[in-house]
Amino acid sequence: MQKKIIEVKNLTKNYGSVQAVKGISFDVYEGEIFGLLGPNGAGKSTTLEIIETLKDKTSGEVWVDGYSLDKNPNEIKQIIGVQLQLSGYYPGLTLAELLDLFAGLYNKKIDKKKILEEVKLADKAKAKYKELSGGQQQRFSLATTLINNPKIIFLDEPTTGLDPQARRNLWDLIKQIRLSGTTVIITTHYMDEAEELCDRVAIIDSGKIQSVATPDELIDNLVATGFERTKEVKKATLEDVFIHLTGKSLRED
Ligand code: ADP
Repeated sequence: MQKKIIEVKNLTKNYGSVQAVKGISFDVYEGEIFGLLGPNGAGKSTTLEIIETLKDKTSGEVWVDGYSLDKNPNEIKQIIGVQLQLSGYYPGLTLAELLDLFAGLYNKKIDKKKILEEVKLADKAKAKYKELSGGQQQRFSLATTLINNPKIIFLDEPTTGLDPQARRNLWDLIKQIRLSGTTVIITTHYMDEAEELCDRVAIIDSGKIQSVATPDELIDNLVATGFERTKEVKKATLEDVFIHLTGKSLRED
């Protein structure tokens, strides 16, 4: 039996009269990539931000690596890596300066070169954040989650707005981070991303969990109900064509 690193029980969140999260429960196992999937407004970010200790819950219980969110939020902060919204970085600072800033906040000594190498930005240490492409900004943002040597990282829609090459590149990095033993929780509304990356997913709609399982199980369950796609399934997608014609290598550097 795998160790549960996050346990969420009957979590609710109200914003005034809006019930954004309506009593959801799920577990995340150590070392997995766990996806929260759902349409806009489903409650994914709210759920994530509560677990990250950034937002207060209305009711329910959350444990992270055995620490209670109510009793030990500071211990939780020390073992997680959280992405800022991209607008949260000082655009005029260089990547090296931003890493120093983060290291200071975490009170950690860091190897900037190694961290930038991990996300393929070694040659950009002296570049300003605002000079980076969208893909590079996302990779840098991923790097900042690693500064704290976290057990768990939280990624909120990390590939929104990226082109297919940059998305695949980010997927590879996320898989690499997981290989080093880090647990990853990711929100997305891209189903191909969830299929590619996630060991298990929770599908959330209107503040409720509809299902939690592996992507394969979810698909098999649907097929078992007699569901058939109305359109003939081809052996390739338009995205496959795009990658085939334009290559896998990044264009941004
Ligand atoms: P998702 O991440 O799935 O798009 P959110 O967690 O951002 O969903 O939002 C869930 C619901 O809560 C939405 O109806 C949203 O409008 C509402 N909401 C989110 N943040 C706030 C807030 N600070 N104040 C009021 N309503 C909010």
